[in-house]
Amino acid sequence: MNLPDFDYYNPGSVHEACEILARFGSKAKVLAGGTDLIIKMKHEVLAPQVLVSLKNISQLSAIEHVPGKGVVIGARATLNDLVNTKVLHKKFFSVSMTAHQMANNQIRNAGTIGGNIVNAVPSADLPPILIALGTVVKLVGPGASRSVTLEEFFTGPNQSVIAQDEILTEILIPEQPTTGSTYLKFGLRRSGALAVVGVAAAVTMKQGIINNARIVLGAVAPIPMKARKTEELLAGKVVTDDLLDEAGVCAAGECKPISDIRGSEEYRREMIRVFTKRALRKAIKEGHA
Ligand SMILES: Cc1cc2nc3c(=O)[nH]c(=O)nc-3n(C[C@H](O)[C@H](O)[C@H](O)COP(=O)(O)OP(=O)(O)OC[C@H]3O[C@@H](n4cnc5c(N)ncnc54)[C@H](O)[C@@H]3O)c2cc1C
Repeated sequence: MNLPDFDYYNPGSVHEACEILARFGSKAKVLAGGTDLIIKMKHEVLAPQVLVSLKNISQLSAIEHVPGKGVVIGARATLNDLVNTKVLHKKFFSVSMTAHQMANNQIRNAGTIGGNIVNAVPSADLPPILIALGTVVKLVGPGASRSVTLEEFFTGPNQSVIAQDEILTEILIPEQPTTGSTYLKFGLRRSGALAVVGVAAAVTMKQGIINNARIVLGAVAPIPMKARKTEELLAGKVVTDDLLDEAGVCAAGECKPISDIRGSEEYRREMIRVFTKRALRKAIKEGHA
C-alpha cells in the first residue's frame, strides 16, 4: 500500500504550525505519531495534501508537575512517555496504567496523547480516565488560544470542537484531593486490542463515605460518556457490596451501546455492569489510601 503524495512541513513552533494550517485550510492535517493518520492515508480514507508535523516542537513533549495546578502534559508526549514518566506515575498512576494497556510497544513509542484525543474515536482509552480526572485541554489557533474541559471537547464519533487551524498543545490534569482512580478496559485479546468497553472511575472518600464519584464509560456511546445517574446514586453513600452492584446495573442501564463486530449491544451492557463494579471497587480502595 503506497501513501498518496503530500507536502511535508516541519515547523519549529506552534505559532508557525498554526499559520501553515490556516494557509492550507482543509487540505492540511497535523501529523503527530502518525499511528492513525498514516494508516488512514494508506487505506485512502484520508488524502491530505499537506502534513504539518509536530516533531520539531520540543515543548510539546514535556510532562511536568506544576504545584497548585496539576500535571501538564504536552500533546506530543507519547503513550510510552505516559507509562515511563515518574511524575505522572506518582501523581496519576491510573493514567500511566491506561497508556500501558494500549496497543503494543511499537505503537506506544510513536502514538501520542494528543493524537488519541483529537482522533475522537469512541473506543479510545485515554479520554475516559482523563475526563474522570477533570482534565482541561488547551487549543491554540493562529491568533488566540482557549481552554476547554475534555468533557466538552468531544461532539461525536471522530468529531470534536477543535478547529481546522487549531493545535491541541497541553493537557492539564488538575490537582485534586486524595482521589482513587482507575481505568479498566475489556478487549477481545489480552494486548493490542481496542476496547469493547472501558470504564474509568475516580472516587473521593470522606470519613468512609463516597464524597464524589466520577464515572466515564468508553466505547458504549458516540463520545466518552459520563454515567451521571450512577454518580448521583453513589454520592454520600457508605460503600457496600449491594451499592456497587446497584451502581453496575445503573451504569448498564444508562449507557448507549451499539452492536458491531466487537460485541453486541446486550453484551456491552453486561460488560459495563461488571466493569463498573470492578472499577469502583478499585478506585474506592485507592481513595482510602
Ligand atoms: C495496532 C494499533 C493498535 C492501537 N491500539 C490502540 C488502543 O489500544 N487504544 C487506543 O485508544 N488507540 C489505539 N490505537 C490508535 C492510535 O494508535 C492512538 O489513538 C494514538 O494515540 C494516536 O496518536 P498519534 O500521535 O499516532 O496520532 P496521529 O495519527 O498522528 O493523528 C491522529 C489524528 O489527530 C490529529 N492530531 C494529532 N495530534 C494533534 C494535535 N496535537 N493537535 C491537533 N490535531 C492533532 C491528526 O491530524 C489526526 O487527525 C491503535 C492503533 C494501532 C495502529
